[in-house]
Amino acid sequence: MSFEENLSKGQFLIPKCTQCKKIIWPSSDYCSYCFGKIELKKQDFEAKIVEFSKKNDDYFCLVEIENSFRIIAKTYQTPTIGKIVSISKCGIKDRDYFFEIN
Ligand SMILES: [Zn+2]
Repeated sequence: MSFEENLSKGQFLIPKCTQCKKIIWPSSDYCSYCFGKIELKKQDFEAKIVEFSKKNDDYFCLVEIENSFRIIAKTYQTPTIGKIVSISKCGIKDRDYFFEIN
């Protein structure tokens, strides 16, 4: 299954190069550094809030994954910068990735 197929089923897997072990984002078939094959890792990862903004009653956070890439995630609680969070929900909506954290 591809990264997006997993994501659309609510599984957020980390794309990692099998050779140089770098995280490759956005996910691709081959590593952009060494052209190694990308493996989708089902692993625990660190997600940290680096920035957030409020829109109506929702908060949107910029979340850094494994000190590597950043995603936008929605939360219903007041975010704190630097807080380690976990992805509670993810998927694809209108061809965009969406994430929720708690
Ligand atoms: Zn590589």
